[in-house]
Amino acid sequence: MYESGEDYLEAILRLQLENGFVRSVDVANKLAVSRPSVSRAMGLLEKDGYIEFTLGNTIKLTEKGQLKAEDVYGRHKLLTVFLQKITGLSEEQCEENACRVEHQIDVDVVNGIKKWVEEN
Ligand SMILES: [Zn+2]
Repeated sequence: MYESGEDYLEAILRLQLENGFVRSVDVANKLAVSRPSVSRAMGLLEKDGYIEFTLGNTIKLTEKGQLKAEDVYGRHKLLTVFLQKITGLSEEQCEENACRVEHQIDVDVVNGIKKWVEEN
């Protein structure tokens, strides 16, 4: 999956947790991107079976999308905690950096970090 697709899935999951429903405009605001960019990305995610649109035109994660989004968001939270622990920097800065790293990092590295965080 392309990197920004993961960003969108993560944003949809977080909006769903915060608001209970997700509209395109909320996704655009959350990621600070244009509505046409959101439309394009949603088209691709829908085609790949990660999301679907409800009758009220809100965005819903499919089971496949939910699993993928939870995986990305799990990495996001883990890396944020890890970076805070080792750097002592603000949550905001660590979260921002985590969000950049989370797409590129290997699974075994994530697992190693998880183990470290549990022990420290
Ligand atoms: Zn993230």
